Amino acid sequence: MVVLVRCPYHEDSTPSLALYRDHAFCFGGCGLVPLEWLPENLRELSARQRETRERAGGGFTREQLRVLVEAWCWNLLEGTRRHRLSWLEDRGIDAQAARRFRLGHSGAWFTIPVLQGREVVGVRFRRDPYYLDEDEGPKYRNPKGQPVLLYRPNPGGWPLVVTEGEFDAMLLCLAGCDAVTATAGAGSLVSLLEREGILGRYRRAGSVLHVATDQDAAGEQVVEQLVRRGFRVCRWRWEGAKDVSEALARVPRSQWSSRVRRWIREGEVWSPRRERKGLAEGGLDARCRMVAG
Ligand SMILES: [Zn+2]
Repeated sequence: MVVLVRCPYHEDSTPSLALYRDHAFCFGGCGLVPLEWLPENLRELSARQRETRERAGGGFTREQLRVLVEAWCWNLLEGTRRHRLSWLEDRGIDAQAARRFRLGHSGAWFTIPVLQGREVVGVRFRRDPYYLDEDEGPKYRNPKGQPVLLYRPNPGGWPLVVTEGEFDAMLLCLAGCDAVTATAGAGSLVSLLEREGILGRYRRAGSVLHVATDQDAAGEQVVEQLVRRGFRVCRWRWEGAKDVSEALARVPRSQWSSRVRRWIREGEVWSPRRERKGLAEGGLDARCRMVAG
């Protein structure tokens, strides 16, 4: 996030001095301005911005969080929580995959770091039922103050699949997909994807966007929101399972790629034009039944 302020070095009627964390730049013609040249109030503003950027929620800086993530990871892969790898293995994530996603264990919670490139920008905690009663609180929690983050473990994969939850995203990633989700559930998913610029080229190119959200009301709403925003959507369906993780848990890992290829091939395709047509013709039920080529 860049803050624009009025440049103190020229007659500036509209703010044209951009404050970055290590320099300032005047788009009104002054060019590069070293931070130490700035008046004190602007220097402070720039420093505050630097702090915001480096904060990672829970009172941690990103650097502190990086160290914690390493320690948690060690705890799970080599340390006292090694035996809890079995819980992940039951969900299709073996030690090698856990290492790849830098999963860890904080003592009573599994830890799922949110990475941007190599940088740790946040973390999600998943209650470990061995230490904490599954029914006694939410299954997931975030460090206090952590913003909603994009979780995208495999940006080099194909196709881009919008999904719901870190485990769904990890499993789809192991099947070769570029899965994306949000760290705060389905409700914030579409606006986060828009804000992060993930979807722009799909709208421009009119290409199909794959969606593998949960087969419940919130999951269907994500499909609807995307179609309303002008995307062509391929909605993946599976029998007798709520989410991708459940559906994949029923087949051996060696068959995941072929299962994903089947979902790609057999998904329901929704397009904005058809959606409008469906609305006029029969409302929600008609749209839900619609399968177009
Ligand atoms: Zn200027």
